[in-house]
Amino acid sequence: MYKLDNLIKHLPQVEGRYTENALLSKITWFRVGGPADVLYKPSSIDDLSRFLNQLPTGIPYIPMGVGSNVIIRDGGVEGVVLRLGRGFTDMSFDKDVVKIGSGCLDLNVALFAAQHSLTGLEFLSGIPGTIGGALRMNAGAYGTEIKDVLKQATAVDRQGKTHILKPADFGFRYRGVDVPSDWIFTGAEFYTSPGEQDAIEARIIEIKQQREASQPVRSRTGGSTFANPYNNSAWKLIDHAGCRGLTVGGAMVSELHCNFMINTGDATADNIEALGETVRHRVLNKTGILLDWEIKRLGLKGHERGCQ
Ligand SMILES: Cc1cc2nc3c(=O)[nH]c(=O)nc-3n(C[C@H](O)[C@H](O)[C@H](O)COP(=O)(O)OP(=O)(O)OC[C@H]3O[C@@H](n4cnc5c(N)ncnc54)[C@H](O)[C@@H]3O)c2cc1C
Repeated sequence: MYKLDNLIKHLPQVEGRYTENALLSKITWFRVGGPADVLYKPSSIDDLSRFLNQLPTGIPYIPMGVGSNVIIRDGGVEGVVLRLGRGFTDMSFDKDVVKIGSGCLDLNVALFAAQHSLTGLEFLSGIPGTIGGALRMNAGAYGTEIKDVLKQATAVDRQGKTHILKPADFGFRYRGVDVPSDWIFTGAEFYTSPGEQDAIEARIIEIKQQREASQPVRSRTGGSTFANPYNNSAWKLIDHAGCRGLTVGGAMVSELHCNFMINTGDATADNIEALGETVRHRVLNKTGILLDWEIKRLGLKGHERGCQ
């Protein structure tokens, strides 16, 4: 086991940036959680590949986008958290195929396509993550998911080797894929079709308005807490179990959309996770259905790291 003091000395020389003891609560939507031993922002795909190729065995790492679907636990994350920013934000198009770096925000991809009168990616405008997170989660909205628009994606494996993945390689399912969890997505190509710029932009505005009316988009939240069970809606089950507005410490089930939990100000990650588990138990008792977490819970609980 590498200790925090020593970890950075074991890491490969990179062109990108390392930050020790990096506070992840500053860069996730919930605004909770402990630090990463090291946060690494690669400068390019080559830099990322070299890092992975030279990373000593046994040092754990996880990729993160903008943390819009994660709870970082209070004890923080052991090892290296990778965040793809500049160097992974190129956008271009060739006829009706849009080519995107995985650090791009979904909204910017939708706006880029609109700017070039390309339709089909409007659904991304309401999803507040990056393309890397969208590929990992098979993100979707309004009846369209990543699987419906993907031509291909690139990913780097634990040895630093780049793979080109076709849709058939993904094993797409509802809010998940079967790509190995230590592969890092670096880019994607999406199919679109020619459209009317005004109509595309109008749809993006409509999506924004619908979101603001139905979801706590200005709150500290992690999006949908639980995946919808087959032929059912998580929010309906949660509401039926009487959990709307339920609180644990500073964490609350949103009054606006009860499949969303929010940090009302001083929640810990432990409060949020405990609230989620309470909801699961209440729904199970009331309906016999056990909800599956959609939000990823990452890192150590506070007591596992020796903090309160
Ligand atoms: C207000 C709100 C509304 C939302 N609405 C929707 C919605 O309508 N539809 C929907 O699908 N989701 C929705 N979400 C959830 C979330 O935005 C999506 O899951 C999004 O795709 C996550 O992207 P991210 O960059 O924030 O990923 P993160 O939350 O940072 O990470 C999510 C997962 O992806 C992995 N990951 C991130 N980047 C990479 C990468 N480059 N390579 C490999 N793995 C990676 C992480 O390790 C983690 O397992 C919503 C969230 C919020 C807060």
